[in-house]
Amino acid sequence: MPRNPRYDPLFEPVRIGPKVAKNRFFQVPHASGMTNAAPHARAAFRGMKAEGGWAAVCTGICSVHPSSDDNPFPYATLWDDCDIPAHQLMTDAVHAHGALAGVELWHGGAATANRSTRWPALSPSGVPWMATHTGFMTSARPRVMDAEDIRNVIRWHADAAVRAERAGFDLLYIYAGMGYLPYQFMLADYNRRTDAYGGSVRNRVRFTEELIDAVREATGGRCAVALRMSMQELRARPSDVAESEGHEVIGYLKDAPDLFDLKMDYSPTDCAVSRYTPEGSHEPVVDFVKTITDKPVVGVGRFTSPDTMVSMIRRGVLDFIGGARPSIADPFLPNKIDEGREADIRECIGCNICISSWHDGVWVRCTQNPTAGEEWRRGWHPEVVRRDSEGQVLVVGGGPAGLEAALTLGRRGYSVALAEAERDFGGRLRFESALPGLKAWNRVTEYRLGQLRQMANVSLYPESPLSARDVLDFGASHVVIATGGRWLPALYRDSELPGDLLDAPRVYTPTDLARGAEVEGPVAVFDYDNYYMGSAVAEAMAAKGHAVTYITPAGAAAAWGIMTNEQSLVHASFLKRGIGYRTLERVTGFDGETLALAQIFTGEARQIPARSLIIVGQRIGGSDLHADLQASDLAAAGIATLHLTGDANAPGAIAHAVYQGHRTARELGVPAAEVHVGRDIPWLGSNLRAAE
Ligand code: ADP
Ligand code: SF4
Repeated sequence: MPRNPRYDPLFEPVRIGPKVAKNRFFQVPHASGMTNAAPHARAAFRGMKAEGGWAAVCTGICSVHPSSDDNPFPYATLWDDCDIPAHQLMTDAVHAHGALAGVELWHGGAATANRSTRWPALSPSGVPWMATHTGFMTSARPRVMDAEDIRNVIRWHADAAVRAERAGFDLLYIYAGMGYLPYQFMLADYNRRTDAYGGSVRNRVRFTEELIDAVREATGGRCAVALRMSMQELRARPSDVAESEGHEVIGYLKDAPDLFDLKMDYSPTDCAVSRYTPEGSHEPVVDFVKTITDKPVVGVGRFTSPDTMVSMIRRGVLDFIGGARPSIADPFLPNKIDEGREADIRECIGCNICISSWHDGVWVRCTQNPTAGEEWRRGWHPEVVRRDSEGQVLVVGGGPAGLEAALTLGRRGYSVALAEAERDFGGRLRFESALPGLKAWNRVTEYRLGQLRQMANVSLYPESPLSARDVLDFGASHVVIATGGRWLPALYRDSELPGDLLDAPRVYTPTDLARGAEVEGPVAVFDYDNYYMGSAVAEAMAAKGHAVTYITPAGAAAAWGIMTNEQSLVHASFLKRGIGYRTLERVTGFDGETLALAQIFTGEARQIPARSLIIVGQRIGGSDLHADLQASDLAAAGIATLHLTGDANAPGAIAHAVYQGHRTARELGVPAAEVHVGRDIPWLGSNLRAAE
C-alpha cells in the first residue's frame, strides 16, 4: 500500500552536522542489556531497527573510562582499542540498511559505584547519589575532581571518540542527563565548585561545552556530535537572565552540538509507565528548545501514533521522532508507516518490562515483541518466520499466549484453529486491562486479533470451551494448550514461601475478581506478588468507593515495580486515592471481620478490621485439559504433538506468556537439531594491557 501523504513529513531527510539522516525516525540511545561481551547479539538487535527503517540507531551508555563502571548494570565500553571490533559489528549491521550509527559516550561520575574497577567515583563537589534502592545503594562516596581530573575526563572522551570513529560510528554523544557527570556539573545541587566550572550557570555549562569541543576536534569534524540533556530540573529552576536555567543553558550551547537529544531527569518520568503517564509526556518540558537553537532536536515520549509524530514536527517541537520503547516493540515501525501499514504496528504498551531487563542485568525483553533480544541467539526476526508447515494446529485458549501462538503458527503457514471458552479473546487481559491505568495493555490482544482476522488460514472460535474429547475429535495434527494460570488464596509463611490456603468468608484472589466476584468493603489487599496486580486491584477497589488497606511483607508497595519505574508512581497514586498501606507485615489469619497480621522480622501480632480480603500472592499453572490429553491415545486421534504453553505452563508477566506462546509456535514441528540457540563469545583480542 502507498504511504498516507499525511505522513510524508516523517520521511524527509534531515542534516545532522556532517551527516544526513534519511528520515525523521531516530532510535535514541537506550539500554539493551547487551554489553561488549555480547557483540553479535547487540549487532543483530540494533541492526534489526535499521532494517525496519530507523534513520539513526544508537547504542546505550558506553563508558569512556574504567572510572565510569556501572556494574552490575549492563553498559558498553570504549576503554581501549580492544573494544573496537565489538562495536564494529553493530555499525556494520546498522550501515547495511543505510542508517546512521550513534554511540552514547558516557561518564557516570558520582552516579556510578565502580564496583568492578574500584576507581573512586568522580564528582564535581563530592556530592553522592544517596540512592535508597537496593542495587543502586553503595557506601563508597565520590572524590572531588581537581583540575587534572577534569582534563582527564575530557581527554578520555576525546580518546573514546577517536575509537568510536574507527569503529564506524557517525554520531558521537555527550551525555549530560539522568544524573551523570556532565549533568552533575550543570546542576547546582551537585556542583558547589568555586572555580571556572562552578557557581554561575555560565560556569556550570563549561564542562559540557569543553567535552563537545574535544570530541569534535578529536574526530576532525567528520562525525556529528550530539548532546543528550535532561531538562526537567533545569527548566524548573529560575534564572536571572532567562526564563529558566534550562533556557539559559540552551542559550549558551545553542551552536555547540550538531543535535540536541532531550529527555527528563528521572527514570519514572523519563521512561514512564503508561499506567500513570500518557504518550508525549515530555513535551511541556522540552518544547522551548527549538525556539532557541537552529540545530535539530530529537525527543521521546513513547510515540506510537503517526499523527502525534507529524504534529510534533509540524508544531516545531521536534525535528526527529525519538524512539526507544516503540522501536523495541516494533523495529519495523517506520517501514510500516512508509508502506501504509499503520494497522500492522505492534504498539508499545508502556509496561516497562524492557527496563526491568536492564535492572535485572540481562538482554532486553519486551511484552509486545517476543523476538526482542533473540534476533541473534535464536535467529528470530520480528517479521519473518520459517514457512515450511503443513497440517492443522488447534490452539486452546485465547489469552496472550494462545493469541501469539496462533498468530505465529498462522504466519508459518499452518492451518490454525483458535478456540476460546469466553465470548471475547484476551484471556487475563479481559480483566487486567480494565484495571485503572492498564487500558493500553489491551493492545496485546488488539494487535494479535487484528492480524489473525486478516489471515485466511486461521479460524477463530469464541465461546468454545473444549474438553479432552472435543480436542481428540477435532482432527488436528498438533495441539497447543494455552489455558492460563490461576491465583490461589494462599497465605505467606515467615520463610518467604506460600503458606496454607485460607478458608474464610469473603477471601478472594484476582481469579475470583476476574470472574465477577462482588467485594464488600472495607477491603484489605495482601500483596506478596509484588508486581502490578496487588496495587492495581487496590486502586480498582478504591475506585469503587471502598476503604482500602494494602498490606505487603516487602518494604514498599509494588516492591518489584522499582524494576519497571512504577513503584514511586504507585505510592503517589495510593496517596491520591486515599489507599492506606502497611509494609513489612504478613497476614496470618482472617475471620471475615478482623485481619490478623504479623511483623515479618519480629512476629509482633497486630489486628485491623476488614470485611473482605483479596490475596495477590501465589499463581499456579497446570491444565486438567492437558493432563487428560496426556492420558489419552493421541496417536489414535491423529495428534502428532501436544504442547503446554503460557501461564498454564509457567505463570508470569504477560511478557512471559507471549514469549512462551511465540517459542512454542516457532519450534512446533521443528526437529530439535534444527532449533538454533547461539552463545555469544566476547572478543578475546589482545587485552593484556589494563585500560587505565
Ligand atoms: P495466558 O496468559 O497463558 O495466555 P490467560 O489466562 O490469559 O493465559 O488465557 C487463557 C485463556 O484460555 C482464557 O481466556 C480462558 O478462557 C481460556 N480457556 C481456558 N480453558 C479453556 C478451554 N478448556 N477451552 C477453551 N478455552 C479455554
Ligand atoms: Fe513497550 Fe513494554 Fe515492550 Fe517496553 S516491554 S517496549 S514498554 S511493550
